[in-house]
Amino acid sequence: MSGRKPAEPENPGSSPGGPASFNDASGAATLSEKYLFSPAAVRRLLSLYGAVRAVRILDELKTPPRRYFLRVNTLKVSPEDVAARLREEGFEAHVYPELPDAIYLPVKGPFEVGRASKVIVARKDAAESVYQGANLYAPGVLEAKGVKEGDIVNVVSPRGQIVAKGLAMMDGEEMVARREGLAVKTLRSVYVAPSVRELDVYREGLVYDQSLPAMVAGHVLSPKPGWLIVDMCAAPGGKATHAAQLMRGEGRVVAIDRSESKARRIRENVQRLGLRNVEVRVADSRYLDIEMEDLAGADAIILDPPCSALGVRPSLYYEKGERGFASLASYQRQFLKVAAKLLRKGGLLLYSTCTLTLEENELNIVRAIKELGLRVRVQRVFLGSQGFTELGQPLQRFEPDLHDTPGFFVALLEKS
Ligand code: SAH
Repeated sequence: MSGRKPAEPENPGSSPGGPASFNDASGAATLSEKYLFSPAAVRRLLSLYGAVRAVRILDELKTPPRRYFLRVNTLKVSPEDVAARLREEGFEAHVYPELPDAIYLPVKGPFEVGRASKVIVARKDAAESVYQGANLYAPGVLEAKGVKEGDIVNVVSPRGQIVAKGLAMMDGEEMVARREGLAVKTLRSVYVAPSVRELDVYREGLVYDQSLPAMVAGHVLSPKPGWLIVDMCAAPGGKATHAAQLMRGEGRVVAIDRSESKARRIRENVQRLGLRNVEVRVADSRYLDIEMEDLAGADAIILDPPCSALGVRPSLYYEKGERGFASLASYQRQFLKVAAKLLRKGGLLLYSTCTLTLEENELNIVRAIKELGLRVRVQRVFLGSQGFTELGQPLQRFEPDLHDTPGFFVALLEKS
């Protein structure tokens, strides 16, 4: 950022300067410093999108999308009814016409938050929530030197970016030590997104907060009542519960996650949404073909594996380097192999990531086609852009500068 001194907090809501020529290595380094995105990430965006779009995408990645999407639980209620109820409660809710189960609320901002004399450093993910208007809870606090209950404070990211101004609800030492409790009540944040989890429609299981591309992925798979679906990386259950909903309660979704605590979140969501056809299991999905014989011959597999999350918005800064990208791509290939084994002939594999790199997306698909007996299917719900393969495969990419969404990738494959 021109003129920014490293020790001084920057306000990420202020818009960075226009694009210059960033095509050479020093250009990548300049962008990397300006946006606080790793050189490896910037190089990928530059080589995929060229300088002008890479800069636009970086600008977007640092901000939330302008629309906050919710999936409506159409087993219980219509999108029109939920939108009407939200409007009665004072929200500006819109039905999204391109999908049968999506509504959205606008995200407001950016706002100037102003300086306070005391600073609380929040963990990256907590800072990114506070940046959009959430309160800060004790587990999200990294440092709170000299803060007393009742102080007006700035909440900053670990890189010093101011995300909000708020009221300290406990002393600094307590915030750092405690495992729960409200640490800072946010008074003014750079952006304001709706706090969905506090809504009655959320508690009643009428909505699930899910990004637009993630919902599109569910419709791309378009599961049929009666299918056996295995979600190999399911927590917190967005795609698994969507599949169960689209199957209208008939058939079975086996939602698997390696982490016990995350599997609990799937169960909570399943219960909140009132779904009866989702079974949650804790396992390492890389060994399902050996360990869970009852899943062989699945009609469909959902594979939304851990990824480099370069598409996630907002991202105040981004740290993954070359090795991170490479090891995630190879981790994903382990799941792809097992998915190909579990599927019945003619069964469908939905592969998705929330990242923009070629190696985790198109290149993994190209390899799956060559090595695993899978072929690409046309996607019937298509709201993104074409993917990058020369094979002319119908792959779907969501690009933050074009679609007002997180960066996201969707492929639909069939076992031949
Ligand atoms: N599909 C989910 C998001 C998945 S995020 C949704 O739509 O809501 C990726 C998940 O993969 C994480 O919850 C992580 O715990 C899980 N995971 C990582 N490695 C795994 C493994 N080897 N086996 C099963 N799950 C794994």
